[in-house]
Amino acid sequence: MNLSTVVHGLRPGLEAFLNFLYPPVCVICKSCPDAGQKLVCQNCWSNLPLDRPVAHDPATRGELQEIRSVWQFSEEVQTVIHELKYHSKKSLSKRFGCEMAVLLLRTPAYAEADLLMPVPLHQTRFRERGFNQSLLLCQAISSHTGMPVESQVLRRTKHTGPQAKLSATERERNVATAFQVVDAGALKCKSIIVVDDVLTTGATLRACAAALRRAGATRIFGLTAARTP
Ligand SMILES: [Zn+2]
Repeated sequence: MNLSTVVHGLRPGLEAFLNFLYPPVCVICKSCPDAGQKLVCQNCWSNLPLDRPVAHDPATRGELQEIRSVWQFSEEVQTVIHELKYHSKKSLSKRFGCEMAVLLLRTPAYAEADLLMPVPLHQTRFRERGFNQSLLLCQAISSHTGMPVESQVLRRTKHTGPQAKLSATERERNVATAFQVVDAGALKCKSIIVVDDVLTTGATLRACAAALRRAGATRIFGLTAARTP
């Protein structure tokens, strides 16, 4: 357990006192003061490597029309995503969501979509983490775009365990049948943007898209904060 986790659970007065003793710094450069509690200083934030639009091959896309990501995955991006997911720095989702909303609005097919949908967490994982980072991203994107968020209809019915250490083939097999739509009527003829934090092999997005397609969604897009090379 690190200091910030300990501080998180303490009363605000004590937190302010500890922040006075140990002034928070940017999580990337560790030198700029984090006066505004934004976790990443403006300089580091604007130096995160932006992704360029990629024409993903059909094997990567599956039932998805397109997949777009804001940043290329780098050590710095990894640090920030780690803070969001594992240190519960939920305020970061607002900064991520803002950038993701800009990308969405700049991409005509995305801007015309009907719904934002987070990649669901299995309830076991949700209980461990206490929140779904993809839902937080959807809510932040929605606050900028006004696009509604649908987070109840797609469920993760299989607990797949951590994907990070698996090979591409193992990931594919692991998640292929992990998702189920519980109310297909809600998705008929809809254009849906599935949102996740990181695109790695695309297996998770493809599995979600396959379930959405079976439920009658017409167009399905992927939008992630970062993309691994
Ligand atoms: Zn910095």
